[in-house]
Formats: sequence, structure tokens, C-alpha cells
Amino acid sequence: MPHRKYDKILVINAGSSSLKFMLFDMATEGMLAKGMVERIGTASANLVYQRAGAPKSEQAIAAENHGKALAMACKMLTAPETGVLKTLAEVKAVGHRIVHGAEFFSEPVLVTEEVKTSIKKCSDLAPLHNPANLEGVVACETVFPQVPNVAVFDTAFHQAMPRHAYMYAIPRQYYDEHRIRKYGFHGTSHKFVAQAAADYLKKPLSALRLITCHMGNGSSIAAIRGGKVLDTSMGLTPLPGMIMGTRCGDIDPSIIFFLARKGMTIDEIDNALNKKSGLFGVNGIGSGDMRDTVNAAQLEDDDDLNDDGDSDNDARNAIKMFAHRTALYIGGYYTLLGGADAVIFTGGIGENSAPARRAIISRLKAIGCNLDAKKNKATSGTLNDISTKDSTTRAIVIPTNEELMIVRETFRIITAKK
Ligand code: ADP
Repeated sequence: MPHRKYDKILVINAGSSSLKFMLFDMATEGMLAKGMVERIGTASANLVYQRAGAPKSEQAIAAENHGKALAMACKMLTAPETGVLKTLAEVKAVGHRIVHGAEFFSEPVLVTEEVKTSIKKCSDLAPLHNPANLEGVVACETVFPQVPNVAVFDTAFHQAMPRHAYMYAIPRQYYDEHRIRKYGFHGTSHKFVAQAAADYLKKPLSALRLITCHMGNGSSIAAIRGGKVLDTSMGLTPLPGMIMGTRCGDIDPSIIFFLARKGMTIDEIDNALNKKSGLFGVNGIGSGDMRDTVNAAQLEDDDDLNDDGDSDNDARNAIKMFAHRTALYIGGYYTLLGGADAVIFTGGIGENSAPARRAIISRLKAIGCNLDAKKNKATSGTLNDISTKDSTTRAIVIPTNEELMIVRETFRIITAKK
């Protein structure tokens, strides 16, 4: 790619009271510095900052809004003792993570007034995220008035899904009036690992059928044919699909009515299904973390968690539930894709948890995917094929890098403009 030698791109991920930033050098695609301002708008705002290769620092700051928070971050980026920039003018563009682009955006876009209006319109679908993401854009317009902003949407990559995959079988008017449909999330990560898989397999993405499993605190799977999403496990919101850290994933929707009739309020049910379910809800240790769950399960070294399990403790059962649900999706997607070249594992669990991967892959023999136990055990946070040589569907661990994907998309958009 024709990167100009000194160009830098800033990536912003703004939450309602936080602002995460990462600065990249386009010449090397290397990360130069990163940080986060937390508790924006309160008296206890603080800034965490780290230059690549240097220790982290933390300080209390005054940040009554996102603009002030960003200005403080920029001070660190340009200060002689902590900085990585001579001047802010080196920043040639800002890429923003925007959670929901609804049906407006199937690609990243240069931010204009019209784009901001559309992002605002999607707030109905992501009330906690989109308004906060926009705050980040507005902050950049204040601090970098001459610099282009690019919006990169979590939902955009999934917009290629066909109508029969994204429609829910509920009265059609809810789609017509409210755009209730499947959108899918983690699109930036699914796209990044799909491209990385194509590079690794030395085949064009257009010739590949992939099943990408992004497994972190939130988890989703996507079926990708020729670089286009055919289906994905999250929906209107990030609640359905896989069993997650604290989210329930797929359940019978009547459970909601049942609990409401038992006297729970909508907000209580919402909280229970989003914050108290998933691994947290069933593993018996009050933690949504896979590492804690694996520790509590007290697994033997070669335990593939693929037995009937009459004597399982709750933690062991929770990992089996997780693997069972994941394999169910992989099998379904394999069928819909008409076969698959590879299943990709990414996110905190996918990249690092050998026991969770083993439990999933032990259920994939019917699709020709067999685990190389030694390679699996040796793989944490690095790209590696963990399937046996004779596997007809590869299992590959690929570390995701959503920020780098945002940088690449931002660069593509700003250079396409000229
Ligand atoms: P988020 O979705 O919030 O970005 P992450 O992608 O960091 O989350 O994933 C968090 C999950 O990854 C947790 O369940 C955690 O236990 C798991 N995880 C992270 N590191 C490891 C590790 N070294 N071994 C096993 N599991 C890990």
C-alpha cells in the first residue's frame, strides 16, 4: 500500500464515559501509543497512557466532556517526554469504531453531516453505544478540525447477508416499521481474521468458505463465502447466538414472558439475560471468565469434554454447554456454506483457551476437522493451524486486531477520496 512516510492514523473508540485511543504509523502499520480516559464527566476522570515499549502511566485529569478528554490524550501524544508526535499535524485521519450502522452502511464511510444524522438515526438500535460513538466524532472535529473522520461500523461487514438469513419470522410489519432484523456484530474482527486466513492459506478470499468464531466476553460466529457474510449468530442486538461471558445467547423467547408473568420487570429480565447469564449464570463460581471456569472445572490434561457427563461439576458442564452450542453453529454453517476450508478461532477465548478449543473441535469430526492436541496446547495468542494434517477442514487460531482493521479501512477510504 502506498503509505506516505510520516502519516499517522488515530483510532478512537468512544463509550458513554470513556474514550479509548490508539495511534498507528501507516508506514509500518505499527502501534505507536495507546490509552484510555475513563469516568469522563465526573470529578474522578483519569487518563491511562502507554507509548509502545514504555511502561503504562496513570493520572487524574479534568475531563468534563469527550473533547477535553481527547485534548488531554493529545497532550500526552505530543509532550517531549511521553510523546510520539512532533505535532498533531502528523495525524492525517481518525478512524472511529461505530457500533451500529443499521441498513444505512455496508462499508466504512467518510463522516459528513449526513452520515452523522444517519448514525443518530441508528441510536434506537444501539442506545448505549451510538450516541457515545458520535461524541468521539464531535471531539475529533473540535481537536482536529482539518482532519477527515472515518466511521467503521461493527455491523457493516454483515450487511451482505441475504434476506432469508436476516429476516425474523415475526409479523412483517415489525421489519417495515422498525427495521427489526438480524444485523450481527464484531464485523470488523470477522473481516480482519477472514482476510488474515486468506493470506495464511495463500488463496484469495473470494475463493474461500470460512467459519469465523470470535470468542471473547461477547462471542459471535460468522459463515463467510467468498468474502461475504452468509449468516452470523448475533441478531438485532448482541444477545443471541453463542453462550457468552454473561449473556445467555439463544434461548426460548417465551422464557421472557414466563419471567415477566412471575413478576420480574422488563429491566430486571434484560439485566438477568445480559449480565447474569452465560458462563456466569451456570458455572457455579460467579464469574463470566473462561479462565476461571476452566480452573474450576479441574480438567485432566487431555479431557475433551465430549462425554455424557453424569458426574460433571457446574463449571465443567458450563464449558460443555459453550462447546455444544458453538459446534451446533459451526455444523449448521458448514452445511449452509456447502463445506468449509477452515474454522477460525479468535478473541480472548479463541486465541488463548486451549481447553475451550479442544472441547469445540472434539465435536467437529463429522466435518473433517480433527485437533492436533500438541499444537493446540502450544498455541496462545499466535497464528497457528491446530488441526491434524489429514483434516479436510482446517482449524486455525488467528489473533484479531480490530484497531488495525479500522486503520486499514480508514486509510482505504481517505485515499479513495482523492
Ligand atoms: P472482550 O470481548 O471484552 O474484548 P476478550 O476478547 O479479552 O474480551 O476475551 C475475554 C475472555 O478471554 C475471557 O473469558 C478470558 O477468560 C478469556 N481469556 C483471555 N486470556 C486467556 C488465556 N490466556 N487463557 C484462557 N482464556 C483467556
